[in-house]
Amino acid sequence: MSQPVDITARTLRAWALPEPSFDDDKEGRGSILIVGGSREMPGAVMLAATAALRSGAGKLTMATAASVAPLVATAIPESRVIGLAETASGGFTLDAARRLGDLAAKVDAVLIGPGMQDDAATAELVHALLPRFAGKPIILDAAAMGAVGAQQENADEPHLLAHVLDEPKDMEHFRFREPVLLTPHAGELSHLTGRGKDEIAAAPIDAALAAARRWNAVVALKGATTVLAAPDGRLWQHQGGNVGLAISGSGDALAGIIAGLAARGATLEQAAAWGIALHASAGEQLSIRYGVLGYLAREISAEVPALLRTLA
Ligand code: AMP
Ligand code: MG
Repeated sequence: MSQPVDITARTLRAWALPEPSFDDDKEGRGSILIVGGSREMPGAVMLAATAALRSGAGKLTMATAASVAPLVATAIPESRVIGLAETASGGFTLDAARRLGDLAAKVDAVLIGPGMQDDAATAELVHALLPRFAGKPIILDAAAMGAVGAQQENADEPHLLAHVLDEPKDMEHFRFREPVLLTPHAGELSHLTGRGKDEIAAAPIDAALAAARRWNAVVALKGATTVLAAPDGRLWQHQGGNVGLAISGSGDALAGIIAGLAARGATLEQAAAWGIALHASAGEQLSIRYGVLGYLAREISAEVPALLRTLA
């Protein structure tokens, strides 16, 4: 197996992010849709949303649980917030697929997953949304990644799944028709693959590459060292940040940074590589100010603009 390329300042400078032109409007700077949150976890989408804007995206639409939508809209005044009908277990009903699908032409990237509950409803919704957002960068985080292992419940609309899977009847061969980005930590990848968490942690390059090939996805396997694998076998790794990043909401901020960069026009691999490095560097900056322990996930995104200026 080939060795991963280290993600360093030099790697990133050679992989310059798309920059807006001076006369771009907010759509031109990149429009992002973030789908997630729940009554119990409304904060996750807020963390992701702030991070997407701090990464330079120009326009933000959020879709979250109707019960908390006004609260989220007040917390993130820059956002348009769509309230989605909830299932009894705190997920979204399939009606969301049509409502959000109508937005597809207007957004440049989609992040689905932070703070979502109800694994079955979430998987079904992701299956329904993927074909509607075909051709756009799609990032699946947290519960939305469960879509790779779930059967489609809604037999009325089998055509939706056929767009997503090469082998709709055979979940062993689940493959995304076009690569999406998945952002699991070792525990989540263990849950999705059935391989032990320790086994994954012991051979993260192997595990990320196998997942990327199996599902036709770009996979960012997160940890103190994060491995990034593309389905064609390209590999990167990043070591940095500190244990202060192992805190609730940290992954939501990372997903938001990556989504914001993808909305600006970065490829999934590029947005992930930059996002992983920016997130880790933000942790380093915060540890200088507060110490390694005790800074908050909500403080990560405010570090990003200055870091972008330094790294660009
Ligand atoms: P999540 O578990 O989804 O909240 O994501 C946690 C984030 O923090 C990921 O980006 C990890 O790479 C990062 N992280 C977790 N533990 C460490 C650590 N010990 N050192 C550096 N980064 C970490
Ligand atoms: Mg997470």
